[in-house]
Formats: sequence, structure tokens, C-alpha cells
Amino acid sequence: KFSTAAVLEEPITPPVQINYTKLLINGQFVDSASGKTFPTLDPRTGEVIAHVAEGDKEDINRAVSAARKAFDEGPWPKMSAYERSRIMLRFADLVEKNIKELAQLETWDNGKPYQQALTAELPMFVRLFHYYAGWADKIHGMTVPADGPHHVQTLHEPIGVAGQIIPWNFPLLMFAWKVGPALACGNTIVLKSAEQTPLTALYVAKLFHEAGLPEGVLNIVSGYGPTAGAALASHMDVDKIAFTGSTETGKIILELAAKSNLKPVTLELGGKSPFIICEDADIDRAVELAHFALFFNQGQCCCAGSRTFVHEKIHDEFIAKAKARALKRTVGDPFKKEIEQGPQIDSEQFQKVLGYIKSGIDSNATLECGGERFGSKGYFIQPTVFSNVKDNMLIAQDEIFGPVQSILKFKDIDEVIRRANATRYGLAAGVFTSNIDTANTMSRGLRAGTVWVNCFDVFDAGIPFGGYKMSGIGREKGAYSLNNYLQVKAVVSPLKNPAW
Ligand code: NAD
Repeated sequence: KFSTAAVLEEPITPPVQINYTKLLINGQFVDSASGKTFPTLDPRTGEVIAHVAEGDKEDINRAVSAARKAFDEGPWPKMSAYERSRIMLRFADLVEKNIKELAQLETWDNGKPYQQALTAELPMFVRLFHYYAGWADKIHGMTVPADGPHHVQTLHEPIGVAGQIIPWNFPLLMFAWKVGPALACGNTIVLKSAEQTPLTALYVAKLFHEAGLPEGVLNIVSGYGPTAGAALASHMDVDKIAFTGSTETGKIILELAAKSNLKPVTLELGGKSPFIICEDADIDRAVELAHFALFFNQGQCCCAGSRTFVHEKIHDEFIAKAKARALKRTVGDPFKKEIEQGPQIDSEQFQKVLGYIKSGIDSNATLECGGERFGSKGYFIQPTVFSNVKDNMLIAQDEIFGPVQSILKFKDIDEVIRRANATRYGLAAGVFTSNIDTANTMSRGLRAGTVWVNCFDVFDAGIPFGGYKMSGIGREKGAYSLNNYLQVKAVVSPLKNPAW
């Protein structure tokens, strides 16, 4: 039995006003060229929150023209880096001033716990813009010793118009990961938000203009993937595309970029991250961390620790405690303070997660708890724990993207490294041990872009993030992300003017 047995009562309506539902092109809120709109839904109930202008190819064309003009004619790329930095800092201040409204809107549109949005995601959003504002005037090239009598320098120039396509699981954070480095480097942007969560991107983009961002530098087009998203990825006048989302769509983006103008692509895709608990681990802490690693954000994290490997010596005790922890997880209206888990994002994801749960049951994994929807409306799912999971089961191979923990048993370190790596993904991994040798062996042996040792989901602005294998191409956050938005130009001249 779940401790929060009560079904959702009347959902709490947050006091935030929805003021921005149009496309933001060239500094102006405008209707879509077709005049069409689409509804954005409240995942607690499936009811409409607002109707939002639906961008398509023609709107992407308008937005790219505005971004192109703002890039080619300035002032943004040509303004002093210090001034760019100051605008970004002013923007971060405005976000801080509006932090409650933004957190309310994020929770309303996405379903994530309000406390999480308010105390973790919004402060991290601000931190990311402080971080990238700090980079703006520290981006510079080198001088290179030449064999001949030449002076050689490199200039690090903005790449141009950046297209950015973001998902719905962390709408504001994904905005910051992409917009922060692109603007610090002096680029202009067309961003397509996810159709499930269009509201906060429009709100913060409005604040950016209030902070002094010149028109045309940041354009926001809400709309669907195969229409607006595909038009952006295949646009001939877009110089770079950055995408976060599923591996399937990542492949489409790469293909569209290749078939159009060969724009460089960075991809942050799915994962099936192992979380490995060794025999020397403190079991209670390991249970809590493994629970957090999977269930955080309703399990909707690309790096979720979705394969919990537990050493055979502590396996049975771990399962009993992991189940007890999942049964205590509070599910319900994410606006309530005590709630740890809100609804899944939409009906499609809800059905998909329930389908994976059925597949786990059908393949004879042991259902320890959960397994069904929670309540009778909205997209809530009971925290679910499977034990006895085998490597070849679908629930151990596919990204479920929901509150479903899969526990697997292992015997020794070499075996678990091999099994942890036996996946098409390589986004992240977690290791829980009190032995430094084990920690070192695992962190070098695991093929993943991040290895968290005795922690999970630590996301400082300076830490690079990205995937090995089919989890993506390139790195975001940190100094590494700047290269995604820069061109390197070599300038070569004779040391002395030759006599002509
Ligand atoms: P998705 O990859 O289809 O959508 C992500 C973004 O890409 C959205 O903005 C969407 O509009 C856009 N998009 C979709 N099709 C496109 C196309 N043909 N051309 C250009 N852009 C396109 O993801 P989804 O359907 O929302 O979720 C499906 C699965 O993806 C999830 O179950 C999960 O496994 C994974 N996912 C991963 C992440 C992540 O952070 N890596 C985020 C969201 C979803």
C-alpha cells in the first residue's frame, strides 16, 4: 500500500498569469503564419492550460531571417564581450526576481514538484547564466609558433545562427544549457521548445529582452518536431544545430543536417545508466541514493540510474529496503510541499511507461511494488520496483523514462563493469563503494560521459555533460560547451612585409 493512498483531490491552481503564448520573433510576440495554435496540457488532469501559437516552416524561416540579420548586422556579435556579459547578468537578476512565477509555470506545464523547480532548477538556471556571463570576455584564441617567418594567430569567432531543439523534462534547464554558451560566444539563436512545455521559454525570453538583449538575437518558436523542428534542423541558413531528446530523433536531426548544409550537430540523447552498489556500501545510504537516482523528476531524466546493480551479498536486504522506500514515496499534486512525485508528462509517455511495466511482468521479473497508475485522472504512476531483472529483458535495455526501478544482481567487479557497459547507451553511471580501488577501477572501466562516485545527479554549471556511444555527440555545460558555438580562424601574416 502506498502511504499517499488518497487520489488527487481538486488540483491547486497556481496564481501565475499566462501572458506569453505567441512566437517570439525579432523581439516581438507574433501569431504563427498559419494562425494555428496547439493546446498545452496540465499533466495532473490532462486539461488545457493555454493555447499556444503553433510554429511551422514559415515561422522558422522568419525566425532564422531575424537571427541571420541580427548576426550579420549586429550589434550582438560585434558588441564588447563585457557588454554581452552584463546583459546576461541582468537577465539572471530578472529571473531571480520572477523565480516563484517561473517555478509555478514550470510545475504547471511539466508536472514536476514545485519545491524541486523552486529550490533546485531555477537557482541552477540562474547559476548557469552567471557562469556563462563570466565566460563571455574570456573567450580568445592563441598565437602559434610557425616554422617560417610568419605571425600566426587564431581567432575564436561565433559560429553564426544556432538552431536549438529542447525536450520537455527540464524545460528551463535545457534552455540554459543551450542558450547560455551560445550567447556568451556571440551567436544568435532560434530555439524550438518542446510541444509539451512551451510556456517558460517564452517567459524567460521576454525577460531577456527586458534585460537589453537586442531584437533578433534570441527567437523562440513553439511547435511540433516533424514540422518546426525539422525545418530548423534542415535550414540552409542555420550554422549549427544542438538537440536534446530521444536517440531516434537525434538520428533524424543528424540526417537533416547532413542533407542540408552539413551544419555541425551536438546531440544529448537517451541513456540506460547503471548504478552499481558494491558489497562494502552503507546499505541505507545506497538505497536512498539509488532511489533518488531513478525516481528523481518522475524518472524522466536522460541519465536516470535505471539499472540498479547490487552485489549478491547485500542483494536481499537491499531489495527489501528499496521496496520500503518506494512505498513511502509521496505521489500527488506537485504543488503540495510534501509531494515527491508528480505526474508523467503526457498520455503518450504514461502509456509507454505502463507498457514497459507490463513487459517486465511478462518477462518474469519480480514486481516488488507498484505497477499501476496512481489515482484515476492525470498521468500519475505508482513508484515501481522490479527485482530479478536479467540483462536481456526489455526493461534492462530500453530507456523507460518513468518511475520504474530495475534491480539486477552481480558477483564481482569485472563482471559488473562488462554488464554495465553492455548497452547501446553511455550517458552516465553511478558507483557506490567505500573502497577507493573499486571506485578508481570502475570510473575508468565504465564507458559513460559521467561517472558519479558515491553521489548522483550532481550538475554544477562547470561540469561537462554528454554521452558515449548512442547517448550523443559532444559535451554541454562547462568550458567544453563553448567549442560547440565557436569557429576557429587561423590568421597568418609575414613577420616583415616582403618587398613587393
Ligand atoms: P523527442 O526526441 O521526440 O523530442 C525532443 C524534441 O525534439 C522536442 O522538441 C520535439 O518537438 C523535437 N522533435 C521531435 N521530432 C523531431 C523531428 N523529426 N525533427 C526535429 N525535431 C523533432 O522525444 P519525445 O517524443 O518527447 O520523448 C520520447 C523519448 O525520448 C522519451 O521516452 C525518452 O526516452 C526520450 N527523451 C530523452 C530526453 C533527454 O533528456 N535525453 C528528453 C526527452 C525525451
